[in-house]
Amino acid sequence: MKRKDFLKKTILGSALAAVGFPISRNLIGKEKSQTNTGKRGIEAICSPTNTHMVGNGFKVMNFFPNGKGFEERMSPFFLLDFNAEVNFPASDIAQGVGVHPHRGIETITFAYKGAVEHHDSKGNHGIIHAGDIQWMTAGGGVLHKEYHEQTFNRSGGAFEMLQLWINLPKTHKMTPAKYQSIKHPEKPKVELPNGQGVVHVVAGEYEGTKGSCLPFSIHMYDIHLEAGADFSFQLPKEFNSGILVVDGSISVNDKKAPENHYVQLKNEEGQIHIKADKKTILMVLSGEPLNEPYVSYGPFVMNTEEEIKQAIDDYNNGLFGFLQD
Ligand code: MN
Repeated sequence: MKRKDFLKKTILGSALAAVGFPISRNLIGKEKSQTNTGKRGIEAICSPTNTHMVGNGFKVMNFFPNGKGFEERMSPFFLLDFNAEVNFPASDIAQGVGVHPHRGIETITFAYKGAVEHHDSKGNHGIIHAGDIQWMTAGGGVLHKEYHEQTFNRSGGAFEMLQLWINLPKTHKMTPAKYQSIKHPEKPKVELPNGQGVVHVVAGEYEGTKGSCLPFSIHMYDIHLEAGADFSFQLPKEFNSGILVVDGSISVNDKKAPENHYVQLKNEEGQIHIKADKKTILMVLSGEPLNEPYVSYGPFVMNTEEEIKQAIDDYNNGLFGFLQD
């Protein structure tokens, strides 16, 4: 594909357009935090959304951005695409998303089932399997491609992944691109009492245990629970926070949140009390809102329209480097 055609024709671009989200701006308006010494309130429990394909390899539910300004509600998180478990048949055709650029964000991919292979224009390459995470800081700009790992692709099987975009603060938008592969056993962890489960700390900290990624003011947990697990934790009241039920089923502060549901927490103090009805995997997100203007266009998230135009020009002029598709 010619560079100039990318923004019109890319599968990713059209996927974003398909959810009604080619361009957006935020309206800066802070929610007032409330003090509540009891349980943290639940703002919404979102049902699984319709799915759409990203490239030919990811069948995702998009929880945000959702065209209703929700990415601002979850700032600094900007996008949450969840490929709930689906069976991909054996294939000889590469499945995934071909070469495309990013600037101004970090993309984080969690693998739950199956395997994904990454290559980027900085020469980074990695394969992530169940439990692993790839953390790519696009920063000032990078090209990457994301495909089902070749052996998995040929054999087919259960596939479950999610991808998050974190919007970078203005001061770090143009930071050099970076890639980190975090294998499941490397994630610092906190064992819940009585074998109820494990909190794997991806970023930030949980009860004093720090994750290996300390990007900005973010907490991110990969929580694996046994049936009957029953525990509570807290997150900073001013942090935008949510919980994705990847597998299993829980109640959060006595409200039911089945598999593939996303729980939006209120910005207030209070315990988050989780009970697992069965074996469960959760992804918990919490981050300090950026409170900066932004403009997004396809794979770019910047602070102004001029910066978006610059990103498009830089991309068309080959400044993001080269990567063979
Ligand atoms: Mn990408």
